[in-house]
Amino acid sequence: MVVGAGFAGLAAARTLARAGRDVLVLEKDELGTGAHSRNGGMAIPELKAGPATLQRTYGELGLRLHQEVNEAFDHLEALIADEAIGCDYVRSGQLYLAHAARVVPHLREVAEEHQAFGEPVRFVERADLGDEIGSDAFHGAVVYDRTGGLHPAKLHAGLARLALDAGATVRDRCPATALEDVGRGHWVHTPDGVVEADHVVVTTNAYADGLLPELARRVLPIGSFIVATEPLDPALAAEVSPKGRMFVNTRNLLFYWRLSPDGRLLFGGRRSLARASVADAGDHLAASLRQVHPQLRDVAITHRWGGNVAITLDRLPHVGRIRGAWYATGCNGSGVALNTWLGHRLGQTVLGETPPPAFAELRHRPIPLHRFRRAYLPLVGQWYRYQDRA
Ligand SMILES: Cc1cc2nc3c(=O)[nH]c(=O)nc-3n(C[C@H](O)[C@H](O)[C@H](O)COP(=O)(O)OP(=O)(O)OC[C@H]3O[C@@H](n4cnc5c(N)ncnc54)[C@H](O)[C@@H]3O)c2cc1C
Repeated sequence: MVVGAGFAGLAAARTLARAGRDVLVLEKDELGTGAHSRNGGMAIPELKAGPATLQRTYGELGLRLHQEVNEAFDHLEALIADEAIGCDYVRSGQLYLAHAARVVPHLREVAEEHQAFGEPVRFVERADLGDEIGSDAFHGAVVYDRTGGLHPAKLHAGLARLALDAGATVRDRCPATALEDVGRGHWVHTPDGVVEADHVVVTTNAYADGLLPELARRVLPIGSFIVATEPLDPALAAEVSPKGRMFVNTRNLLFYWRLSPDGRLLFGGRRSLARASVADAGDHLAASLRQVHPQLRDVAITHRWGGNVAITLDRLPHVGRIRGAWYATGCNGSGVALNTWLGHRLGQTVLGETPPPAFAELRHRPIPLHRFRRAYLPLVGQWYRYQDRA
């Protein structure tokens, strides 16, 4: 049994069903309405820290975490190609843009850290940024060649098709409401009755609820929002993004943006860590987009939406077991490649084909004062905004 039909859940279901297991996926919402279909579609093989930093903090495990993130990216690219998943995937490369001059030394170090591991990552000076982005707002950038852009809802639909073709059953609008470990397996409660399962894989990421309160306490669900412009004139689109890169800046309350295959600019982020409406967040993003790209001041915003990302205390993904059920969570805003792969790896783990992913070796700490997060997160957001000043 798999709980949650996002990237991770469907990938786990497919791997298990292909091995001949009888797999039921429960999804509490309508299929395809979660974060998996609402995200920026950036497939990024990186944790928040580079390989040497991970090694300094976690020793040899840090290197394996870094390796797994790269494997996740390779896995996604291969899956899309091998299974002909039509999701507009392009290996575009990504620019990580310095929002302030003081960040530049750090970005140079980041580039060197990756280069020392033979990875195609380099620093671009401010004077050369015009070849990469139509904006004067940045002080330099790191280019990651191994990054791609895709249409997340199409990827999700492709994963659903693969899971169904492999023999899994997907039941949407049907939440798992309680889970009992009964020794020889689990009883999973739903509004329609109780399902008996030998194994349970929980892939609820930022949407963790009362099913496993121990898991919900270990992630902070934080809103992330996106606005989309009307399709841009091709010359204007080429001015904004000459190479069609994925863009992310270095602020704590960061912005991420890109061209869509139909020539719109998608611009994402959040104003604060307080709860926000799509309307308010969208207004902030529309204004910010025009600050970054003044040439878009007359372009209409036609769509706005939002969803939740799962933040963990150490800003790393986690894999573990609670009451005998496996879980993968904590995308920290980058789960397109990683959570798809972690789902697949949990499937392999349940089958006994491989040991659990390296992320299972990290200690997954609860978020302090989780119950009071709505009170303190706005203050943390204010501190972030102060740190983010240019
Ligand atoms: C606006 C936005 C932009 C983003 N941009 C990017 C990006 O550009 N690149 C990137 O890598 N990542 C991005 N992300 C993050 C990315 O979307 C997530 O990492 C990814 O969707 C995680 O996949 P998942 O399968 O683990 O979880 P999800 O996609 O969140 O799926 C979890 C599912 O579990 C279901 N569920 C929860 N509880 C239950 C229950 N009790 N019973 C049954 N079902 C349940 C939920 O309804 C949900 O459908 C973004 C996220 C948002 C919101």
